Amino acid sequence: MTEHFDYDLMVIGAGSGGVRAARKSAEFGARVAVVEEAALGGTCVNVGCIPKKLYVYASEYAAAWREAQGFGWGAERITFDWATLRDNKTNEIARLNAIYQRLLEAPGVDIIEGHGVLAGPQEVVVGDSRYRAKKILLATGTWPAMPDIPGAELAITSNEIFDLPELPKRLLIIGGGYIATEFASIFAGLGTEVVQSYRGELFLRGFDRDIRLFLAEEMRKAGVDLRFDHHVTSITSSATGAVAATLSDGEEVFDAVLCATGRKPNIANLGLDHTAVTLNESGYLVVDEQFQTAEPSIYALGDMTGGWELTPVAIGEAMAFAQTQFGDTPSTMNYDNIPTAVFSQPPIGTVGLTEEEAEQRGHAVVVFESSFRPLKHTVSGSEERTLMKLVVDAETDRVLGAHMVGSDAGEICQGLGIALKMGATKADFDQTVGIHPTAAEEFVTMRVPRG
Ligand code: FAD
Ligand code: NDP
Repeated sequence: MTEHFDYDLMVIGAGSGGVRAARKSAEFGARVAVVEEAALGGTCVNVGCIPKKLYVYASEYAAAWREAQGFGWGAERITFDWATLRDNKTNEIARLNAIYQRLLEAPGVDIIEGHGVLAGPQEVVVGDSRYRAKKILLATGTWPAMPDIPGAELAITSNEIFDLPELPKRLLIIGGGYIATEFASIFAGLGTEVVQSYRGELFLRGFDRDIRLFLAEEMRKAGVDLRFDHHVTSITSSATGAVAATLSDGEEVFDAVLCATGRKPNIANLGLDHTAVTLNESGYLVVDEQFQTAEPSIYALGDMTGGWELTPVAIGEAMAFAQTQFGDTPSTMNYDNIPTAVFSQPPIGTVGLTEEEAEQRGHAVVVFESSFRPLKHTVSGSEERTLMKLVVDAETDRVLGAHMVGSDAGEICQGLGIALKMGATKADFDQTVGIHPTAAEEFVTMRVPRG
């Protein structure tokens, strides 16, 4: 007798990776269901990339308005209404949730609302219903990790920050990664007094050191109170409803404390103990290059497997998964030269190896670097500067890394990502005609190596 399966594929988690895997697999003809306990689109759409970028846009207007005066615009007082931003953001996300629903329904994916639990290698329970699937894909993402300090429960995370009832006047941000740094710039831009506390000597560990140093200087100029080698040892509630925090340098009162101290895989009550799925020492799911776990019928991808925790990476993995399993085209994800941006103000754009990584890997490197005041700011009055840096292999002339701090860094580095992926050499950069006048042209006009 043949075994009965309700689905060829059940996906748990309708975030960046889960939605793409479900859609593509269904387009290849598989019978697919996706289980989601919150809103369709996952972290990126609901409490990540999208609302974050909208808030970045919102926060840039105050500086733009100040700069506009140098170009002759009037200097009337401008006002900002937090509730308008928050509510317009919420409406836009509701629109995106509906688009995700249509994207799933069009190829025939069943959407099952609720918390998915593995009851065995080919069985998923959602509420009172039990489903059998030939293959199960886990794409449940990650969840904010809180630091082990007394009173941490009084702090908020990036999940709550978008929907605060009011704009905080004083905000303490703990952490020195992407999220902490992006929100420090966002809230400083919106007019909040921001203290960013980082435990190490320089934030954004893993990025090129010159880029980290340069951004720190620019963010301080923009008014962010960056404190490095700095610790928050406790948080208590204050009589006024605010939050008091004990810092390395004394006690201070804030309207809110944001913990942006990393994230951990979303595996609570997932039923992994009913399977042979294994975790690595950091708690991420272990998979092979086909995203297969130690349980042959169960696969996992996206943030919960660690590595590059970025939406385009989760999507790329999902495409490779669907093509391999249901599209008759065995595919793997290539993790080389993944471009990324930190949407700080000014932003970082980066692709390829940092100078430190290139040296650690044994490359003899030549570095080209240019730091300048962008044309716009010669008249705007802003003191903001831009840094661009190329890390080149001295023997092969291949560009190993391109890094930037400055306006539109993410937009510029996306294009450089193609060049690096194609193995461009410094000679190729030199032969490329610039677009004048832009900041980006500096990447093709740097001729003299750094001394
Ligand atoms: P997720 O998108 O997290 O989706 C997981 C889904 O699974 C969720 O919807 C969750 O509700 C659901 N789920 C979990 N457990 C269960 C269960 N048992 N049953 C049912 N459903 C379940 N990346 C970028 O590339 N660019 C950015 O600018 C960017 N900004 C970010 C800003 C913030 C504040 C954050 C937090 C992240 C940001 N990211 C950004 C990272 C990006 O959001 C993630 O890399 C991406 O969402 C990962 O996709 P995923 O499919 O692995 O998981
Ligand atoms: P990150 O891992 O980037 O940063 C976590 C930060 O918290 C680090 O500075 C870390 O310090 C610090 N930290 C960790 N534990 C503690 C602790 N107990 N006490 C004090 N500090 C601590 O995580 P994020 O939460 O910022 O973001 C998660 C991921 O989401 C990112 O890695 C990125 O992949 C993705 N993301 C991408 C964005 C983008 O593409 N623009 C934007 C936002 C998020 P240390 O360095 O010393 O370990």
